[in-house]
Amino acid sequence: MSTDFDCDVLIVGGGPAGLSAGIFTARAGLDTTLVNDGDPILRRNAHLENYPGFPAGVNSHRLLELMGEQADRAGCDRREGRVVDLRASDDGFVAETEVGRTLAASKVVAATKNTVDFLAGIDGVEILDRGKAFVDTDDRGRTGVAGLYAAGRLAAQPHQAIIVAGHGATIGVTLIEDSDVDFYHDWVTPEGYFTGRERELPPGCEEIDAAERERREAESVAAMQAWFAEPHPEGPQQHPSVRDDE
Ligand SMILES: Cc1cc2nc3c(=O)[nH]c(=O)nc-3n(C[C@H](O)[C@H](O)[C@H](O)COP(=O)(O)OP(=O)(O)OC[C@H]3O[C@@H](n4cnc5c(N)ncnc54)[C@H](O)[C@@H]3O)c2cc1C
Repeated sequence: MSTDFDCDVLIVGGGPAGLSAGIFTARAGLDTTLVNDGDPILRRNAHLENYPGFPAGVNSHRLLELMGEQADRAGCDRREGRVVDLRASDDGFVAETEVGRTLAASKVVAATKNTVDFLAGIDGVEILDRGKAFVDTDDRGRTGVAGLYAAGRLAAQPHQAIIVAGHGATIGVTLIEDSDVDFYHDWVTPEGYFTGRERELPPGCEEIDAAERERREAESVAAMQAWFAEPHPEGPQQHPSVRDDE
């Protein structure tokens, strides 16, 4: 079947779970496309105070922007669009968006919180109805269908941003392990950490010298100063049922 677009990994949903999965799969060299429609639920948060690394909390819009930028830098191709259908194909899956575009992918990560309608055409996905819909998975996010994973709240993870982000990372690493990629930890270490002990540099690891480390830290300091130079202009989104503008 001819499709508009091909990739190794399609991630559906761009909240913390999907973005985190995309950072890991793209860094491992898998051609990763993330398709998101609408706003992650985290945009409703008024001040995020339990996400480790931000002792005085962080604006949730800012955190999502930082995650998006990190996914971009890793090489994840982020697109806007709503996936309305997913089907198994001979070599993976074909997704269709609401404007009729088709995307072929070897593996798919669903990270759409409680949206499951686009999975109806796939046999073997167990939907759990607990008032809201969730997808049943094993403890590494694998659904009953080879190559199809569920991440974050959709996989019935607890409803906290750090937990779903961590779960997205777990699913990213699981997918990498299930692929043909030589992958080991995704670590950046000081020069000589492995090779200074007569060890081969493991796949997916990088040794950097002092000058390169200083260059990267200076870049990260400048980037974070720019990101946090001003308060974020956007406030939290109100629940639709109590918005006074509707
Ligand atoms: C008011 C409020 C306050 C909160 N405060 C906190 C807090 O203080 N601390 C904390 O840790 N957690 C908080 N949370 C919880 C946290 O926001 C969620 O647990 C977390 O964001 C879930 O992430 P997710 O990636 O699984 O889903 P989401 O962030 O919802 O991401 C799913 C994405 O998929 C998109 N999508 C859905 N269907 C499709 C489709 N068919 N095609 C393409 N895209 C699709 C959605 O639009 C969305 O962008 C709060 C939640 C709310 C509602």
